[in-house]
Amino acid sequence: MTDIVTSNTPTDAAERRSAKPLICYQVDQLPSSNLALYQQARQDMRKLDEITVAPRDGGSFEVPAGSFFRIVSVEGPQVGDLNLWHAHDLTERFFSGKTRQLHATHVGTGDRLWSSLPGLRPMATITHDTLDWYGWDEDGAGVHDVIGTRCDPYTNYMLNGVDYHHCCHSNLTRALAAAADIPLREAELHVHDVMNVFMCTGFTRDTHQYFMKASPVRPGDYIEFFAEIDLLGALSTCPGGDCGSSHSDDSTPCYPLQVEIYQPVAGALQGWSSPPRSGYSGTHGI
Ligand SMILES: [Zn+2]
Repeated sequence: MTDIVTSNTPTDAAERRSAKPLICYQVDQLPSSNLALYQQARQDMRKLDEITVAPRDGGSFEVPAGSFFRIVSVEGPQVGDLNLWHAHDLTERFFSGKTRQLHATHVGTGDRLWSSLPGLRPMATITHDTLDWYGWDEDGAGVHDVIGTRCDPYTNYMLNGVDYHHCCHSNLTRALAAAADIPLREAELHVHDVMNVFMCTGFTRDTHQYFMKASPVRPGDYIEFFAEIDLLGALSTCPGGDCGSSHSDDSTPCYPLQVEIYQPVAGALQGWSSPPRSGYSGTHGI
């Protein structure tokens, strides 16, 4: 919204503005998250695999349903842009906007990452977050947002007039093309709005503009997820580093991120099953 006002304020403006806000979706109406079961299962899990994503680059990983994965800060403060797909169907992918609507602008332990329509099911549940102490700061900022879309070379070209090839969009595109063995152009169409792992963001109080500030993440911090379905993930180490100064350039200090895959012990998930796709008939009134 801009500060351009050309319309007269109606006499009942105060009354219209006094309508009470309602939370659009009640979280307690969502299917149960099984968080207590996951918290128990994570106690005895063992590491199966790990990958390191180099600075200003992308990497991919697979997580079988019923396993956990962590994104870990190593060497220095670094933001990661996360994409998730159903491992066997790239058209079902993380739905950042609906996740924001169902939970909040920033996500934490117990929140789920939901898949795109027509699937609309939990792809992953957040089971641990070493930055959960951060909360909301005095600027109204929090960590792990599902607001920002990802830095991309098109917006950068529009604003700066130059090609830059290591934006998160390009890093994710290269990572998916290699993982799925598909052409770059095809992979690009599957790259989607991200979860901004470790990124510290908010909206300014006066103009409500999206802002970022230096991430509080430090080496050893991690966020952990439970894979509700077979997942293919891609992670970009944002060229903005801790996103405290800039993005889309080669001058900001950047660090690697590690992805670790964990498997719980046999029997730890008794009673759990992978969630089905939405039960909606899909006929849209026809
Ligand atoms: Zn980025």
